[in-house]
Amino acid sequence: MEVEKIMQDLAKKHPGESEFLQAVEEVLHSIKDVYNQHPEFEKAKIIERIVEPERVIMFRVPWTDDKGEVHVNIGYRVQFNSAIGPYKGGLRFHPSVNLSIMKFLGFEQTFKNALTTLPMGGGKGGSDFAPRGRSSAEIMRFCQSFMSELYRHIGPDIDVPAGDIGVGTREIGYLFGMYKKLTRHWEGVLTGKGMEWGGSNIRPEATGYGALYFVNQMMQTHNLDLKGKTVAVSGFGNVAWGAVQKATELGAKVVTISGPDGYIYDPAGIAGEKNDYMLELRSSGNDICAPYAEKFAGSKFVAGKKPWEVKADIYLTCATQNELNGEDADMILANKPLCVAEVSNMGCTAEAVTKFIAAKQLFAPGKAVNAGGVATSGLEMTQNSIRLHWSAAEVDENLHKIMHSIHEQCVKYGREADGYIDYVKGANVAGFMKVANAMMAQGVV
Ligand code: GLU
Repeated sequence: MEVEKIMQDLAKKHPGESEFLQAVEEVLHSIKDVYNQHPEFEKAKIIERIVEPERVIMFRVPWTDDKGEVHVNIGYRVQFNSAIGPYKGGLRFHPSVNLSIMKFLGFEQTFKNALTTLPMGGGKGGSDFAPRGRSSAEIMRFCQSFMSELYRHIGPDIDVPAGDIGVGTREIGYLFGMYKKLTRHWEGVLTGKGMEWGGSNIRPEATGYGALYFVNQMMQTHNLDLKGKTVAVSGFGNVAWGAVQKATELGAKVVTISGPDGYIYDPAGIAGEKNDYMLELRSSGNDICAPYAEKFAGSKFVAGKKPWEVKADIYLTCATQNELNGEDADMILANKPLCVAEVSNMGCTAEAVTKFIAAKQLFAPGKAVNAGGVATSGLEMTQNSIRLHWSAAEVDENLHKIMHSIHEQCVKYGREADGYIDYVKGANVAGFMKVANAMMAQGVV
């Protein structure tokens, strides 16, 4: 396999899809050595097939706002790969959403889901709809319109969407209601449902919790301890909230959190009611974090900047893609951190990842460290199928086991001759091998 040649062809076929091309290039570089040891993959054109989604659905989403004005958004569902299970992955409602972002997320999801050990293929969807400042009634009408097209493409054994940025339990509720009305089926077609109607315990916390289980294990493997360490976190959505909670529980101190307006530095530690306050700010539609500094003395709001300039032992990206670039990586590396983890999907630019790996930094890639969210969605699917509701302790135990197994797979495929564990390579190779072997077994389809 010649990565450059494949990337050139792909860029020609899909011009302007920068995020998608970035995600593919990272995987191809990681897997090329292993791939070249398998001539049967080359013969079956596994790479050429794996980089193209099985199906892309794009549709118009018209809806009416509270003033009676009509709006039109674009809806997407990218059904990327179903080799190891039904398509599975979240829906993102954010004005930045476009085909490139949907495809990068669907591509990453395929390998992430393979790592979870559960039978889930990869998919992603969403819309360029901006929920910020919209009333619940407007959100409901938007979700209903979105589902009035999507319902014909999904199903518990076909494609199971969930939440992502801008889509939480409220949105999943409106989407589920419309699906049920249109199909007359009460079934586990979406995950991230409310606890009273088929949702799983721990699902809201799962991405953040799973990330900390992974980071903790990474550190223990390197004879390091989370206890007493400082943590810089970006973002203040659901993922950041879960990460802050678990980091605190494991004895670390979180000193930053961030919103689109800047970041908060709180040397006393962000935990408990402070953490809940951030999530409240967010869910009230108030998409800024500045009010935190007014409410909690001793903390500081730094406008228009990211938290990567703060000195910490551990850095966790928990906001969105490409939120940490090469310059940020230099700044972080100068602080000699113990661990950097990409909890958001593709949170680091390619340049940043290259710098971390070249510096032999302990670095966790998104598709491994943030897989706890979708893994718990998989556990929600299991509970729906067997019509049972597991206790929080039971789900948490399974989540622990899954994160442990993902770590093991990264170590197995990522350990280098000098002992350094390249978790990026490990995660990409482990995820790829599983999907590629399944595709080989299923013939040219
Ligand atoms: N959006 C999450 C992710 O990026 C969760 C997807 C899911 O639960 O299906 O993995």
